[in-house]
Amino acid sequence: MRIFGLGAIKGLVVTLKYLFRPPFTTQYPENKLDISPRFRGNNFVWYEERCTGCSSCAKACPLGIIRIVTHPESHQQVGNDYKIDVFEIDTGRCMFCALCVEACPYDALHMGGDFEKADYVREDLVITTDQLREGTKKPQTQFRPQLEDIGYQGEEELDEHEAGRWSL
Ligand code: SF4
Ligand code: SF4
Repeated sequence: MRIFGLGAIKGLVVTLKYLFRPPFTTQYPENKLDISPRFRGNNFVWYEERCTGCSSCAKACPLGIIRIVTHPESHQQVGNDYKIDVFEIDTGRCMFCALCVEACPYDALHMGGDFEKADYVREDLVITTDQLREGTKKPQTQFRPQLEDIGYQGEEELDEHEAGRWSL
């Protein structure tokens, strides 16, 4: 009986200790926590100006959920002279491993920092070419040491020159 009484007091002391501390919880969605600049969100940042249509990202994706369609810009199929007709990513099947980002030799594809893209219809989880073209250009620093080197925190938009390891 004495042991039970001591245990109850110890429990109350813990309760009292936490009663006067600020809460650990955050009232989402009114308040949001700061995310790491390396956060892998459920969107992607794509710079068409940097993209050659090489499809290295699509080949690197273990799930095969990146669809790229290109056509040669001129009748001579030389170099990187390709126009991109379709660039789609099915985020409904994506595991956000960032292997596609790692595989991109031209720093054209980056992870994004959004996390509020839930939808009711699976088809609507496919990020279309136009959505990628018009999306916010706030790349995350996952596999992008050049952005970490300049202290980029994923908060401002970067253009196609700033996002890559070299200017275009
Ligand atoms: S993050 Fe991973 S699963 Fe998602 S598209 Fe890229 S390679 Fe594929
Ligand atoms: S995003 Fe990168 S890897 Fe993918 S097609 Fe464009 S240049 Fe190639």
